[in-house]
Amino acid sequence: MAEQPRFCPRCGASLRLEGRADGRRWCGECEFVHYLDPKLAVVVLVEDPEGRLLYMQRNHEPNMYRWAWPSGFVDAGEDVREAARREVREETGVEVELGELLGVWSGGGDPVVLLVWRAWPVGGRLQPGSEALDAGWRRPEEVAASFAHDAGILSAWRAARG
Ligand SMILES: [Zn+2]
Repeated sequence: MAEQPRFCPRCGASLRLEGRADGRRWCGECEFVHYLDPKLAVVVLVEDPEGRLLYMQRNHEPNMYRWAWPSGFVDAGEDVREAARREVREETGVEVELGELLGVWSGGGDPVVLLVWRAWPVGGRLQPGSEALDAGWRRPEEVAASFAHDAGILSAWRAARG
């Protein structure tokens, strides 16, 4: 779960943990209520003609050193499809054209909601970005899953390929 704030962002008083039926933290001074919103992220499965996928090796937690599909958070006000293309570009140097949305994944107490696209390379040059140790094409069956939804996402991609 995301970290809960201890103090009221409006008046600075300590937030109360009890007293509301919904369990949300609230401020007894100014009645501010802390709502924990979902956080939107994009994941992109970029495929080459041989059926390999584009991966980046993470240089940060969680799952440091593991190989994962390019992904990241959507900025407020940003077009989600542009966010998907941006994350691939930033993490691998590759420019992509997006295909269909493979699906939406969320749950398990995690505030992150994943929007997952299929995509194809159309340009750029493969080189790891600042959030990656390395980037490259891998056969998905040779890469260990890093995140809870990876197996489901891979199944959806295989179904979409037909
Ligand atoms: Zn307050």
